[in-house]
Amino acid sequence: MKCVKCNKKAIISYPVRFCKEHFIEYYLKKLERTIKKWKMFDKEDKILVAVSGGKDSSSLAYALHLLGYDFEGLYIDLGIPNYSEPCEKKVKELFGIMNKKLNIIRVSDYGVRVERVRNRPKCSVCGTIKRYLMNRFAYENGFTVLATAHTMPDEVSFFFMNLRSGNLQAIAKQKPILEGFGKLVKKVKPLIYFTEKENLVFALANNIPFCHLECPYSKGNPQSRIKIKLYELEKEFRGLFNQTIKFLEKIEIKIPQEEIYECKICGYPTSSKNKICSFCKLREYFAKKYKT
Ligand code: SF4
Ligand code: ZN
Ligand code: ZN
Repeated sequence: MKCVKCNKKAIISYPVRFCKEHFIEYYLKKLERTIKKWKMFDKEDKILVAVSGGKDSSSLAYALHLLGYDFEGLYIDLGIPNYSEPCEKKVKELFGIMNKKLNIIRVSDYGVRVERVRNRPKCSVCGTIKRYLMNRFAYENGFTVLATAHTMPDEVSFFFMNLRSGNLQAIAKQKPILEGFGKLVKKVKPLIYFTEKENLVFALANNIPFCHLECPYSKGNPQSRIKIKLYELEKEFRGLFNQTIKFLEKIEIKIPQEEIYECKICGYPTSSKNKICSFCKLREYFAKKYKT
């Protein structure tokens, strides 16, 4: 199997056959095109990149570094046993190589613990914690934009989950950029046109340190299950992921604007009628349940 641009051995066959050198060139060009197309950020922005230590966010950070963007990283230590510690080690290694600043937040400092969640899905609690802390850190430290490593299959599986629960509000927000307002910082998804395979190959081709472990709570969760099925469909009907992303870009859902309040406890925005945001509710829950 040969590269379509030269005669060297290809390291990836889909979407195009490329050797290592031409794949890296293709990956960087596609990333730069995405950033420019959606006006995600430019070199004047103060950029915060959320990193988990996995292949996707590590590839995103390293590619932005190769493209000459100045940014800082944010790692959220979720305190997940046999997972968070090795991931943090890899993130530190990567930021050491790039010589970039890495910020670390420990959820235990806020009294919340993902592994202690019992009566609701751990991933939804974890998602609430991460979204809140990422935004709060970005806002309080003057970042103009927050970049996350959501990939094409992530977005497509979120879409099907939102469809299943009839959550139009969430579908309406599934865009490559979400402009900021008030205390909400602009959010961008530069890997929206990338598959996990492309990120993995990019990480391996550049010898980037990344954590190969899967979060122990990802197994069997609804998003993972939907993703597995979608991969099967994509294999049979090539282009399903791509077309879904394009569809999400084009649709405009007319829904009544949610009323936004200021959380009575932390002062950050919330749509909750009792004016207490989901994160503060979680903190209250943990404080009551684990008094010690
Ligand atoms: Fe959090 Fe779930 Fe992802 Fe694990 S799999 S990091 S619990 S969202
Ligand atoms: Zn080549
Ligand atoms: Zn709050």
